[in-house]
Amino acid sequence: MTDRETCIAQDRTDPLAGLRDAFRLPGDVTYLDGNSLGPLPADLPERLADVVQRQWGDGLIRSWNDAGWIDAPRRVGDKIAPLIGAGPGEVAAADSTSVNLFKLLAGALRLRPGRRVILSEPENFPTDLYIMQGLIELLDRDFELRRAEPDRLADAMDDDVAVVALTHVNYKTGRMHDMAAVTAAAHDAGALMLWDLAHSAGAVPVDLAAAQADLAVGCGYKYLNGGPGAPAFLYVSRALQDEFHQPLSGWLGHISPFAFESDYRPADGIGRNLCGTPPILSMLALDCALDIWRDVDLAAVRNKSVALTDLFIELVERDCAGMGLELASPRDAAMRGSQVSFRHSDGYAVMQALIAQGVIGDFRAPNLLRFGFAPLYIRYVDVWDAAAALSDILRNRAWDDPAYKQRAAVT
Ligand SMILES: *Cc1c(COP(=O)(O)O)cnc(C)c1O
Repeated sequence: MTDRETCIAQDRTDPLAGLRDAFRLPGDVTYLDGNSLGPLPADLPERLADVVQRQWGDGLIRSWNDAGWIDAPRRVGDKIAPLIGAGPGEVAAADSTSVNLFKLLAGALRLRPGRRVILSEPENFPTDLYIMQGLIELLDRDFELRRAEPDRLADAMDDDVAVVALTHVNYKTGRMHDMAAVTAAAHDAGALMLWDLAHSAGAVPVDLAAAQADLAVGCGYKYLNGGPGAPAFLYVSRALQDEFHQPLSGWLGHISPFAFESDYRPADGIGRNLCGTPPILSMLALDCALDIWRDVDLAAVRNKSVALTDLFIELVERDCAGMGLELASPRDAAMRGSQVSFRHSDGYAVMQALIAQGVIGDFRAPNLLRFGFAPLYIRYVDVWDAAAALSDILRNRAWDDPAYKQRAAVT
């Protein structure tokens, strides 16, 4: 039987244990929400102070060249690439995930003329579905958003489908698609495949090249720890890049922005998917956060992620049996990302009570308690402490307090 001492012993032999020091985590908090907002990298305040004071303050506009600001979207993209099975020049850091979805979906529809369906799933992240709906409305040409449950996707892939657009790891439940199998099915139907990697990059192994995925987007502020509102990323496979055209044809996607030509000509390669001036402070915060990954063994990350999530399920089911919790994530780790969710009819209040005790997860409507396990800094003992706090709160009904039932704007 697992006890706290066993967890501490596991932390001592954890090959990733040293990476926790790369983050500045408050001592009184067990942080299981890095899937929503990654913690502050320890080096970041000093690095960013240098960007502000030396590069911006002293260098002024010269830093676009001298500090390489102008190349940052591609340089940062190249640092993300190894985490998602992409090659150099296939990824750029830019805009938000939502905006990148818009650009890539629009570009995908252009590449499949005559096909009128974007295929997704009802439980996709809302922004993904909203962007699809907005794009279809804008185009006003009989396009359609088709939604199929994960086990019905293959049936829904007919020769009307232009692009299949899915989130690899579901934000609510952590359920993970078989990327290679779904991509192959999309291609068999003649469609392009777009993956949203918001809950995958930095959390689970992703191999876009092996899956032969066409397009992908993802988030900079979740498991990549780039800070609130960090730039997102986009991927266009090398094979597709020359024929790919996205509609936000801003000047920084032009082949020669400083020629100031009056007509748009797309840049070669991934650069044509950029739009306007990048937010350099946020971009360089993400750049700094990505350095943590430089020598990280991604197989070890997956092993630890599976061990942490399995342990959490085991402890919660052991210690909270009969207390109204129901596992909402796949029990089989092979089908699960790096998060675990439980349903509880008073989930919001339970999570507020947990947060009040320093165990930070989050709540997803209508009734999910969601816990993210980022293997770079979460310890086995954190898993034990979180499960123990949860079982205390449920046993004492500490959540049953009006103060915990007041919904905040961000849950
Ligand atoms: C977090 C998340 C987003 C966020 O999109 P933003 O445009 O960065 O706000 C998009 N898609 C998924 C699947 C997410 O989990």
